[in-house]
Amino acid sequence: MPSPIDLHSHSTVSDGLLSPVELMYYAAEKGVKVLALTDHDEIAGLADAAAAATKYGLQFINGVEISVTWNRRTIHIVGLKIDPANAELQTGLQRLRDSRHVRAQGMANGLARVGITGSLEGAYAHASEGGIISRSHFARFLVEKGFAKNVGAVFKRFLVKGKPGYHEHQWASLEEAVTWIRNSGGIAVLAHPGRYDIGRTNMLNLLHEFRELGGKAIEVVTGSHTPEMVPHFARLAHQFELLSSAGSDYHGPGQSYFEMGRLPDLPSNCTPVWHDWPEMQAH
Ligand code: AMP
Ligand code: MN
Ligand code: MN
Ligand code: MN
Repeated sequence: MPSPIDLHSHSTVSDGLLSPVELMYYAAEKGVKVLALTDHDEIAGLADAAAAATKYGLQFINGVEISVTWNRRTIHIVGLKIDPANAELQTGLQRLRDSRHVRAQGMANGLARVGITGSLEGAYAHASEGGIISRSHFARFLVEKGFAKNVGAVFKRFLVKGKPGYHEHQWASLEEAVTWIRNSGGIAVLAHPGRYDIGRTNMLNLLHEFRELGGKAIEVVTGSHTPEMVPHFARLAHQFELLSSAGSDYHGPGQSYFEMGRLPDLPSNCTPVWHDWPEMQAH
């Protein structure tokens, strides 16, 4: 039986393919009972999603996924149960979204240098009005124009460090992200730790620092983890006295490793981040 709890997902407000309302409908259809919407650096989808979730019988969790620069590397911090009305959180996220426009221009300049023109307009054409601009939108433009056969190949060839469309960028600090989340009443969760290719010592330092700053949980089950990573991060969660979270990181049909509603359970030795949540009484 897959788990009915999914605490990481994306809509068109960031780089997902379904609108917040479509996402809620889809999740309910697929048997999900508790869903968090965690768009990158943006919370504009939460109100529509919450209303739709009520309509379709889903328990909804307000969330966000904040882009962070830690030790010159990009990592992601998910905030769960944040208050979307919190001014400090809103201002912080606005700064990140504004900086995304500057970065997009830098990416387009890099691509122009290898002869790919029109990528700025092309990427924005894939983004939704009032939503963020991201590398995923550039990837969709590049696939559309035939520069690579799929989004995965596009990232490898154009959008990762050392490639023409990669533009060095300064996101929020780890302290800022955790503070914004905590001060808005939320729970800070280190997203998909298995995706950070930082070595053991850096990972231990990251977990230590994250916990010192008030981080509460790490994703143990996620669409980004191989089967071997799940028990590995379950052990680290235990070692650092962190709670465990689970989320598909769903971006739309065919976009993610896990189809909506197919997430496995957390290992039994984990304390779920939702262990004391009233929403979870029935699940
Ligand atoms: P950004 O925040 O603009 O740097 O975009 C990051 C997003 O790009 C991630 O959240 C993923 O959705 C997507 N992404 C990153 N790497 C890959 C990859 N190798 N293949 C497909 N999508 C990716
Ligand atoms: Mn994404
Ligand atoms: Mn992420
Ligand atoms: Mn994500």
